[in-house]
Amino acid sequence: MPSAGTDAVPIPAFHVMMKPRGAICNLDCKYCYFLSKEALYPGSEFRMSDELLEEYTRQYIEAQQVEEVTFAWQGGEPTLMGLDFFEKAINLQQKYQKPDTRIFNSLQTNGTLLDDDWCRFFHKHDFLIGLSMDGPGHIHDTYRVDKGGKPTFDTVMRAARLMQDHEVEFNILTTVHAANAKHPVEVYRFMRDVVKTRFLQFIPIVERDNGTGYQEGADLTNRSVTGKQYGQFLIKIFDEWVRRDVGKMYIQIFDVSLAAWSGQGAGLCIFMETCGDALAMEHNGDLYACDHYVEPDYRLGNITEIPMMDMVL
Ligand code: SF4
Repeated sequence: MPSAGTDAVPIPAFHVMMKPRGAICNLDCKYCYFLSKEALYPGSEFRMSDELLEEYTRQYIEAQQVEEVTFAWQGGEPTLMGLDFFEKAINLQQKYQKPDTRIFNSLQTNGTLLDDDWCRFFHKHDFLIGLSMDGPGHIHDTYRVDKGGKPTFDTVMRAARLMQDHEVEFNILTTVHAANAKHPVEVYRFMRDVVKTRFLQFIPIVERDNGTGYQEGADLTNRSVTGKQYGQFLIKIFDEWVRRDVGKMYIQIFDVSLAAWSGQGAGLCIFMETCGDALAMEHNGDLYACDHYVEPDYRLGNITEIPMMDMVL
């Protein structure tokens, strides 16, 4: 049987969301699907070791047979690792970078820990930042609260301004849920006119109402949106966008829908015939089939025991 990396079985391009602090976060968003994953690792310190960071960097670069390699950092809250960790990550990427390839980094954050040092670092190393924000304060703070239940909007807005001051490239990730589903145009105009971002992602909250935190059972929490509510939210925004903002505002779901419709390929897993090339990795090297399926049945293995290439094939 041919093994990974031979000519007989080409390795597909794949993507890993790396969670160096696992499910640990300084916030307590009421709809968060990831905080409960802490229960998968009882007794863990939830901190990726330097040795594992090097092993992951080496394997990930080696496994990518494409010219552009993107390291995606996520959580929990990845900035809880501290800036030193990411300085090491950059050094290791440079150490293992293959000739004629380019390396990029993206990082999804709640923004609350960002300061001038973080922003200087992001700018220097061309990080693409995803900042989570659900709308103006009275909407955002409905669910996005800290561990004491306090609102977070002001600190997130401050992070957006800091990144603009430092010319850090960022987009806004807005979840669509019961508190903002009926206010699509208000949310859209706020992001465009007040935050002044040009890149937006809208992700529906579909939160299972069960005790496991796994993707099982048909009951949803009352924070969730139905497919129809999500669709109506997008239609209202589309109507505003198509009249005045085409070419000025980039809305991920519109761009990838157009690309898929016009035969340019699916840019998002939900538009693909099969999924499985957008993986998630926990702080200890456990690789899972999907960020939304970090649960025992979807654990592929650990990269310290099985080469990542063999698990991806
Ligand atoms: S910031 Fe993200 S990881 Fe943290 S609680 Fe909120 S949704 Fe969950």
